[in-house]
Amino acid sequence: GGVLELDGVSKSYGTESVIADLSLSVEEGEILTLLGPSGCGKTTTLRLIAGLDRPDGGEVRLNGNVVSGGDTFRAPEERGVGVVFQEFALFPHLTAAENIAFGLKDLDEAERDERVRDLLDLVGLETQGESYPDELSGGQQQRVALARSLAPEPAILLLDEPFSNLDVDLRVQMREEVRRILKEAGVTAVSVTHDQEEAMSISDRVAVMNDGDLEQIGEPEQVFQHPESRFVAGFLGYAGFLPGRIAGEVVETELGTVGRDQIHGLAPEYDDTDIDILVRPDDVSAHPCGDGGEGHGKVVGKRYLGPTILYEVELHGGDSLLCMHNHDETVPTDGCVEVTLDAGHELAW
Ligand code: ADP
Ligand code: MG
Repeated sequence: GGVLELDGVSKSYGTESVIADLSLSVEEGEILTLLGPSGCGKTTTLRLIAGLDRPDGGEVRLNGNVVSGGDTFRAPEERGVGVVFQEFALFPHLTAAENIAFGLKDLDEAERDERVRDLLDLVGLETQGESYPDELSGGQQQRVALARSLAPEPAILLLDEPFSNLDVDLRVQMREEVRRILKEAGVTAVSVTHDQEEAMSISDRVAVMNDGDLEQIGEPEQVFQHPESRFVAGFLGYAGFLPGRIAGEVVETELGTVGRDQIHGLAPEYDDTDIDILVRPDDVSAHPCGDGGEGHGKVVGKRYLGPTILYEVELHGGDSLLCMHNHDETVPTDGCVEVTLDAGHELAW
């Protein structure tokens, strides 16, 4: 088993079921991120792991020992769990070094000083130990909070939306930095976010949650490239769905036939069946129609994404696809467009 195991965990508040039958396992030294929209139960899951809440059913195990389940319920301080919440409140009247030393009362002074120095070093604040929180930048304060939670060498570190109080530039920089720090410390961690980019960049594995259920768990690339549900496909990046019908070796769609070997996940035994194909915006393009051409549809929306533009194309059949283009490519927004699919798609049920 892993360092952390959730086994059939459930939790309701009143009559509202928040977590239903959640099972997952986190390996030693792994960074797992719970990713999902606001209200899907991420914070609740962390609270159940930390022992801040008690599950209605199922078991939570840490290093093989039941900490919640049946009649057992270990208090948070007995679990060896470190927590970094969104508002990483430091003690304002203590220096960075004193904040980090706060959880190290059991060590003698020399050991404690050495441990604090190592941690300041780890988070890149070796010269800031004597600074007070209000003398530090937001990013530096967050490093102190992280060092403080790592100080007692927790069995597992829980991070709840740790970047949401930072501005955008810093957020991107800090997630690289936090991953480096966690890996260097060798700590097992469960983090939580609603931001898919953040999840992809800090995690070894991502667990996508929707409404209290685990939709899919896997390495970031795997989950992004091979989503197993429409929810996952849509939550991790832009997605369009193109209906088709399997006819032997091809799938017939409004945009022409697609070889069935071009559709990942389509089992060989399926035939004469209606399916939807997942079409990512960079796997499809829109072009001007020839003179008097009918084309496939028309552009009904245009969104600037910095270096590229995302066009929403409504097909004659009523379905919509998203097409990504560079600024120098001409896509008419007031007439018909032809739509071309690249090779290689995912099946979407
Ligand atoms: P997330 O962190 O994914 O945004 P939460 O775990 O905080 O979601 O909340 C999940 C659901 O549980 C929400 O609908 C929320 O309103 C509800 N909830 C969370 N905590 C409580 C509570 N203490 N009492 C009642 N409902 C709660
Ligand atoms: Mg939350």
